[in-house]
Amino acid sequence: MSENKFVQVAINLPLNDVFDYSVPQVLQPLVRIGKRVWISFGNRTIVGFIVGISNSSAIARIKEIKSIIDKEPILSPEILELTRWIADYYLCSWGEAIDAAIAMPFKKGKTSIKPRLASQLIPGIDYEKKTGENILNKDQNKALLQLKQSMDKQEFNVFLLHGVTASGKTEVYFGAIEQALQQERDVLVFIPEIALTPQTVQRFTEKFGKEKIALVHSRLSAGEKFTQWQRIKNSQAKIVIGPRSAIFSPFKKLGLIVVDEEHENTYKQEDTPRYHLINTAIKLAQIAQATVILGSATPSLESNYAAKTKQFKLIELPERIKGSELPYVQIVDMRNQSIRTKRLPLLSKVLEDNISRCLKNKEQIIIFLNRRGFSTFVNCQKCGYILQCPKCSLALVFHCDKKQLICHHCSYARPAVNLCPECNGNYINYLGTGTQKVESELCRIFPQARISRMDSDSMRKKTAHFEALDDFKHKKIDILVGTQMLAKGLDFPNVTLVGVISADISLNLPDFRASERTFSLLTQVAGRAGRGKTAGKVIIQTYTPEHYAIECSVNHDYHGFYAKEIVFRKQLNLPPFSRLISIVLRSKEEQTVIAAAESFNQKLRLKIKNQEISVIGPMPMPIAKLKGYFRWGLILNTADILSTNKLIKELLKDNKLSSKIKLAIDVDPRMVV
Ligand code: ADP
Ligand code: ZN
Repeated sequence: MSENKFVQVAINLPLNDVFDYSVPQVLQPLVRIGKRVWISFGNRTIVGFIVGISNSSAIARIKEIKSIIDKEPILSPEILELTRWIADYYLCSWGEAIDAAIAMPFKKGKTSIKPRLASQLIPGIDYEKKTGENILNKDQNKALLQLKQSMDKQEFNVFLLHGVTASGKTEVYFGAIEQALQQERDVLVFIPEIALTPQTVQRFTEKFGKEKIALVHSRLSAGEKFTQWQRIKNSQAKIVIGPRSAIFSPFKKLGLIVVDEEHENTYKQEDTPRYHLINTAIKLAQIAQATVILGSATPSLESNYAAKTKQFKLIELPERIKGSELPYVQIVDMRNQSIRTKRLPLLSKVLEDNISRCLKNKEQIIIFLNRRGFSTFVNCQKCGYILQCPKCSLALVFHCDKKQLICHHCSYARPAVNLCPECNGNYINYLGTGTQKVESELCRIFPQARISRMDSDSMRKKTAHFEALDDFKHKKIDILVGTQMLAKGLDFPNVTLVGVISADISLNLPDFRASERTFSLLTQVAGRAGRGKTAGKVIIQTYTPEHYAIECSVNHDYHGFYAKEIVFRKQLNLPPFSRLISIVLRSKEEQTVIAAAESFNQKLRLKIKNQEISVIGPMPMPIAKLKGYFRWGLILNTADILSTNKLIKELLKDNKLSSKIKLAIDVDPRMVV
């Protein structure tokens, strides 16, 4: 007589538990951890993931699984352990974490999808392997030696590779990757927004050949993604290059994880599970006994602090590759400019003169402003009425190409107005500056120049940015205007001037990381200038030139910036000295959400009692209304995420929220809005 068999099943619903099901006799030989099953849950039939097998169950009236979906497990033990950790750390259910981890084609119970080879992964780049290598310089060699020594031991280690822009970090990654391949271990490489950095991808394919590489990015179709997944699973591809979700790739034996531009916010997932790639990569490396390299010219405060306190090993590349110097940075105080001309100028005289000079010399120019649209604030001068989104508590942005007022958070759009909707007066002001206004102003001042704009409005078409970058590379464009899309990874030696229209936008955001983000963004954009033989120049326009985030960027002084910022973080007990958890409640009814936030707050404070957790709030969130929902929240400041999470879980279990309330919990939020 064969024994009874039971499985523990995780499901993609926000329920903490795993559920016991019994297995019919015929299916028993096929049961394995990591396979998907069809189960009935409530009155629906849904997909579940087998996470455990047992010979007994405490459940009295137990249901049977309906069928087993997979021939082979689609989840490895490593990925199961990783998703379990994600669920505990980022406060979601195990099933939700697993659902995020499985490849697209496997969602909704599918077993296969027509594989498609992505022939044109990224148009316009050449995938052939090239010979001819750079000889590493002294610093690069030293860096690589340290990495190799750690990798030889095949043990878990995290390195922070802090190298100024164009110091040759990528070449160091290459050396480490070669080492991993020699050890027959797989490599994961993370690049923020692959589709925006075709040059970086091209360097990898030139170095290792496209056969060894699996390229995963958001613009692939489901079939193309599935092909890449299969290539990794059957060990054809040894190097996976991708966005954060590539962390769940079905590799065999992981040896190395490289995270380029580790400070980037795009590494944080903004929906459930709200995991951060860095933490998750470190956890996976711990599970797989692998080496992690975090690379950046401006490491996050958290990572640099971890290096200072010896949790990470620090490697530095303090100089640019011979032949190019860090660009000269000039700050322009816009307060003086406005007095001189009696109106707010977009371009200072200094920036205008420098653009003229570069155009004469046939050098290229990047102009940066981190705000799209034309006018970012439209109001009535007579009655003061501000044109706001009806669904969000945010001003509408005027887009001149479409003659529309658009909400950047929910895409609500209405035709532009000549008369005030409130008082009917015709004194409508179009204030604030976006990239479209900059572009049109540049066209007016430099009618002979070839000017192009690169932001998410102008880049709607799938291949638009490849074309723009290709045109820029082939010098068909003189001036490229754009948002932070331009700050990343571009390596164009003929760019000698970078202009920052306003450094103040990111500085004024209501977030404790505003200074860090500003310094990092300025350093990254500045890093685009002077990468070739001709010296580069950066001009930063600002109304707050005395701010240390701006002052330090003049001298590319990361250490100076860190020293100032870390004192402020310590005084206020903010990360990296503590951890934050943001809890946001939202409802279509304002009174309902206020009441719910207040009641949640009271219960939470009762529960906390003696623990070292401080609570800020309840309060309306900086974006008090979003997509029709009123938003109230709390921010928890704690030394210990896991025990605080446990407390929140208990609280939520004992106090069911009304169906009118939606809840979002963000552990280690990158930005509290
Ligand atoms: P980072 O990633 O630090 O910005 P890169 O790796 O992109 O720097 O290197 C900047 C430029 O210098 C690239 O064009 C690269 O090919 C070149 N380079 C890197 N290392 C060397 C070297 N040892 N010798 C010559 N050129 C190098
Ligand atoms: Zn809106």
